[in-house]
Amino acid sequence: MSSPRRSSASTRIGPVRLGGAAPIVVQSMTNTDTADIEATVRQVQALVRAGSELVRVTVNSSEAAAAVAPIRERLERAGTPVPLIGDFHFNGHKLLREHPDCAVALAKYRINPGNVGRGSKRDPQFAEMIEIACRHDKPVRIGVNWGSLDADLLTRMMDENSALPQPRAAQEVMRSAVVQSALQSAQRAEELGLPHERIVLSAKVSGVQDLIAIYRDLAARCDYALHLGLTEAGMGSKGIVASTAGMAVLLQEGIGDTIRVSLTPQPNGDRTQEVIVAQEILQTMGLRSFTPLVVACPGCGRTTSTFFQELADRIQSHIRARMPVWRGEYAGVEEMTVAVMGCVVNGPGESKHANIGISLPGTGERPVAPVYEDGEKTVTLKGERIAEEFQQLVEQYVARHYVRTGGAQATANPGSATASHISRTGTQP
Ligand code: SF4
Repeated sequence: MSSPRRSSASTRIGPVRLGGAAPIVVQSMTNTDTADIEATVRQVQALVRAGSELVRVTVNSSEAAAAVAPIRERLERAGTPVPLIGDFHFNGHKLLREHPDCAVALAKYRINPGNVGRGSKRDPQFAEMIEIACRHDKPVRIGVNWGSLDADLLTRMMDENSALPQPRAAQEVMRSAVVQSALQSAQRAEELGLPHERIVLSAKVSGVQDLIAIYRDLAARCDYALHLGLTEAGMGSKGIVASTAGMAVLLQEGIGDTIRVSLTPQPNGDRTQEVIVAQEILQTMGLRSFTPLVVACPGCGRTTSTFFQELADRIQSHIRARMPVWRGEYAGVEEMTVAVMGCVVNGPGESKHANIGISLPGTGERPVAPVYEDGEKTVTLKGERIAEEFQQLVEQYVARHYVRTGGAQATANPGSATASHISRTGTQP
């Protein structure tokens, strides 16, 4: 059992509620040059189609700032009114001042207190960004990153630590400095007039144990909404595993109001993977449902053909492709589970636990594939078209079992909803 959700202040990022009792929000970030309006709009749309509920864009130059309002307008015209978050470093105060249309078009600003300006410029530049946020009623994420931690603060804390009779380890001081930087900046923002609930905090590091320790501390010391994420998580399985390991522990303890998985994509790789991983973390932990889950066995020596792997992949891809339509048409479909199993050892059992499942024939078994719906065997597939027919049965299951948005029940007659060429014999294989 997970711990109760930590109590946090609730704010709105455009129309999306964040913190309090709101569902944990999935967000992502583009990697296009924001000044390239076409490319950025395309990528934002792809991220939204994958399920991103907030999208952050880099605002690092006058050209990027000038592009934000047109991007916002293009997205709205295309029916993708996702809230955009502006990511600012060093010149954010100047860009927001010189591009008021950008300041208005963004739904939230992300400010890194370690990168707002050096020396005597830091405080006035931070203040200017907060004042602009106040003027436009925008929430702000104070996003500390240990790679750009406020150097003055860290040096001071290290000096104070070395003067102690029993100094703490340098790593512990670094963790405390990350937390201090976030809390002090939030306090300063409130003193400048930013309402308490409009502040979201993050404190990103690249080590899993550091992340857990820092967020536990942060969570215990404030009630600001928290954005979780491991920074520089890395590529492929390493990035996915590290992000999941860190965030899952915190989410299990009720910590976290929005998450982003910072994966390094392959060159020209698909940016939407970070959204899918974030959704899968939340869904597999039972915290939210986004898309039907495909349960598939790993395969073993009992099934030496690749057919069941191909079928699992096909069904997974089909469900992802259909979700944009299903989500709008069938309430609750995101909670469906589909089992694709490789042989008779665990196939029927696992299939019975799923909403709909298929148990494929293993090596030496009769070449038939029983299908189960809601625990009952409904049909046995055989021949060359098992994959196509099972995909069709999944479609029909969705249409029969989930309520159409708007309240009308989808076709409820199992017999008539069955494809004419698939007989529901229920005979034993
Ligand atoms: S269900 Fe069959 S094929 Fe799949 S892992 Fe278990 S024994 Fe192996």
